[in-house]
Amino acid sequence: MVFVMKNKNEQQKSFPDGMEPLGNSVFKFACHSGVSCFTRCCRKLELFLYPFDIIRLKKRLGITSEEFLNTYTGVVQGGNPFFPSVIMKMRQDEENTCPFLDQDKGCTVYEDRPSACRTYPLERAVDRSPERGAAQEFYFMTNHDYCKGHDEDQELTVKDWIRDQHLIYYNAMDDLWAEMDTIFAANPWKGEGAAGPKQQVAFMICYNIDRFRQYVNDYELLKQFKLDKARKKAIANDDEALLKFGFDWLKLILTGKPALQGR
Ligand code: SF4
Ligand code: SF4
Repeated sequence: MVFVMKNKNEQQKSFPDGMEPLGNSVFKFACHSGVSCFTRCCRKLELFLYPFDIIRLKKRLGITSEEFLNTYTGVVQGGNPFFPSVIMKMRQDEENTCPFLDQDKGCTVYEDRPSACRTYPLERAVDRSPERGAAQEFYFMTNHDYCKGHDEDQELTVKDWIRDQHLIYYNAMDDLWAEMDTIFAANPWKGEGAAGPKQQVAFMICYNIDRFRQYVNDYELLKQFKLDKARKKAIANDDEALLKFGFDWLKLILTGKPALQGR
């Protein structure tokens, strides 16, 4: 989860109640198939998906982003009043299990599991308040009674966990997304209201990358901007590069910020 702290005065209340940043402190935790609670955290949960999560998962499954959205997700009103959130659609079984959970083997998409699953049992917050200068991240420990990983003896720091869970790239992509979410939270749609044309384009860019690729081709969008050869090549071959281009285009059309240079 990414918490965005808006200004200095809001710092304290922007963090969940009773949660203190871990800093460099050492904590005990281990998760493995031998724990009595194995896969408990993959049931009865509200799992928010970020744009990069969807790119990784649809690739993993060999389906389009549209098929992924239709099959595995639902759209809900999350923390942002002006932009919908996407969550994993849980199975309609007794325990509302994640569709990617195998009772015996655990997570069947482990290498491409969403960032929230990687980060757990930690939660991440990013402070973007201007007085801090560069964005600063904080990590907190969650404490669910059912999670017995806290009783294991392995000692870790946040840095160890980030490395162990391959979180650096996920965090970088999620930060780009959080920047967009902050723009959406300022209601840049104005007169169009929710689900107007601009919001629909923004939703497509964020969550339906294959549809956006088709859109870019149909409207010859890349020709409208000065892009160096390497970037054009990356956008043509790589969904993450296309997502970053989409974010820059949205910044331009929603805020006027010259994130892209027109021809
Ligand atoms: S994606 Fe994997 S780790 Fe995450 S909830 Fe589903 S089964 Fe569990
Ligand atoms: S509940 Fe905790 S220890 Fe158990 S499987 Fe989930 S993360 Fe691992």
